[in-house]
Amino acid sequence: MLIRENLPRFYQKSPERNAIGSRLNLAKNVIIVGGGIAGLAASIYLARGGRTVTLFEKRRYLGGRAVTHLRHGYRFNLGPHAFYRGGEGSKVLAELGVPVRGGRPRAIGIALYGQERRNLPVNIWSLLTTRLFTAADKLEALKLFIRIRRMKKSMQFTEISAREWLDSNVTRPRVRETLTAIFRLATYCNDLEKLQAGAALNHVRLAMRGVIYIDEGWQKIVDALHSSAVTAGVNFVTSSRVIRVNHDGAVRGIEIGGLEFEVTPETQTYLMPQPGDDKGTRLGAETVLLAVEPSTARELIGEVSWPPMTPVLLSTLDVALSKLPDPKKTFAVGIDRPLYYSVHSRWAQLTPKGGALIHVSRYGGGDQAELETLLDEMQPGWRDSVVHCRFLPSMVVSNALMPPAPATRPSPITPIRGLYLAGDWVGDTGLLSDAALASARSAAKAILAEG
Ligand SMILES: Cc1cc2nc3c(=O)[nH]c(=O)nc-3n(C[C@H](O)[C@H](O)[C@H](O)COP(=O)(O)OP(=O)(O)OC[C@H]3O[C@@H](n4cnc5c(N)ncnc54)[C@H](O)[C@@H]3O)c2cc1C
Repeated sequence: MLIRENLPRFYQKSPERNAIGSRLNLAKNVIIVGGGIAGLAASIYLARGGRTVTLFEKRRYLGGRAVTHLRHGYRFNLGPHAFYRGGEGSKVLAELGVPVRGGRPRAIGIALYGQERRNLPVNIWSLLTTRLFTAADKLEALKLFIRIRRMKKSMQFTEISAREWLDSNVTRPRVRETLTAIFRLATYCNDLEKLQAGAALNHVRLAMRGVIYIDEGWQKIVDALHSSAVTAGVNFVTSSRVIRVNHDGAVRGIEIGGLEFEVTPETQTYLMPQPGDDKGTRLGAETVLLAVEPSTARELIGEVSWPPMTPVLLSTLDVALSKLPDPKKTFAVGIDRPLYYSVHSRWAQLTPKGGALIHVSRYGGGDQAELETLLDEMQPGWRDSVVHCRFLPSMVVSNALMPPAPATRPSPITPIRGLYLAGDWVGDTGLLSDAALASARSAAKAILAEG
């Protein structure tokens, strides 16, 4: 529902009239569609840069895929979320003054290989001591480990896939499988054919520097962004779905539909179109930033020629337990199967005292039974301590991989005058939330540079 009081004053009188309204207001006015972390971050840059910013979000709440749901005192992110220290995202949040607090998981864990259970080789010590590798494997793995660590963040290996890089740099089969698993862990990508080697290696290097599990979940980042945006003067209109961007080579305005209903992620999210959605309320605008998924952006603007995009998917079983049956087993990674297991509450404040919050996931998607079997092995008897449990079968972790050049992701600046893009599928920088935040900054800077 469009709550007119939430709009800047010049829209309140008559949105329809405003379609041909004050040019002066329109020129300084920016509409952002999408209240995930990309839209929120862009809104702060723009409002601090002197623009009148109005952000439309179709849901009742902000945060998009970075939301955290509170269930019986346990904080559930949408599947496992790790924040990459030193990535572009952390630079953007630092620029915006948004703190990132939480725990750094220690680099120890179990490598799952068939029936074998070995130490996961994620640092030099575990690499030299693990029984996953033979002596010859260790030598090759050590050389590769040091080489990747020493690589400068550069434009190297942008034209080949991560698979091709492995083909030409790794000879021993088990080292290759292990590196594939480490690439998967760092990037969430289970299809290394389609992932650019340079982007993958950069992300592995970031992961080697350590990640943070955020205290109270990623909602903490969303809330801090929201509060900074409010302070900067951003206007928020929630429960309002933008249904069209009107343009004729230059942006002329947007149309807004009706109230959205949804059920919780436990039962899948869906949205019900409302009577009158097809008509829409028109608002004039010369500058619009779309911080939505690519399929929605395509619908809103009509014909666009973007490169094909490969989304990154994950199925995840998120489990809250009143106690952890085996406190020693906190992290495991499948080497020959794309599996992930981590007790996030071991490192971040996510549960009431004594409780545990676990994510068991399969890269690329998959069914619940395999994840439950892994949890049975890691935490025997876990079913007796379940407080809340949900299975999310096919989450979009990222809307687009970074492909090997010459393929690219769409630029934040579009050929339509006044139309900009941000999200984890936009721009040439980073993966996952790093890409979302870096493209948000690029789009906002480009808008501000327009004068
Ligand atoms: C299971 C899982 C695990 C992840 N793990 C990590 C991780 O470990 N590290 C990491 O860095 N990242 C991770 N991510 C990715 C991270 O969550 C995303 O990159 C980030 O949240 C994307 O933000 P965004 O703003 O670009 O998009 P979104 O969060 O998708 O936001 C888009 C917003 O637009 C709104 N919207 C859509 N259409 C309309 C419309 N027509 N009108 C109005 N509003 C609209 C949506 O409701 C939504 O709020 C993970 C994601 C998932 C799902």
